[in-house]
Amino acid sequence: MRSYYINNQHQKEGVHEVHTAECPFLPNSMNRRYIGAFKSVDMALENASNVYASVEGCKYCCEKQQK
Ligand SMILES: [Zn+2]
Repeated sequence: MRSYYINNQHQKEGVHEVHTAECPFLPNSMNRRYIGAFKSVDMALENASNVYASVEGCKYCCEKQQK
């Protein structure tokens, strides 16, 4: 299980990025919200979509982990 956070500041077109706790691109504590600990990126994204309508996994930490 990994801990996941979502960036409170959106990227292009209102998309909010999801990061693991270990990601070097994790936003500082003022700009992120803890989502929870999940077994997969998919589960994290599903929960993140309850917070923000449009979410995606960080290309650095979330895609690498899925392989
Ligand atoms: Zn990341």
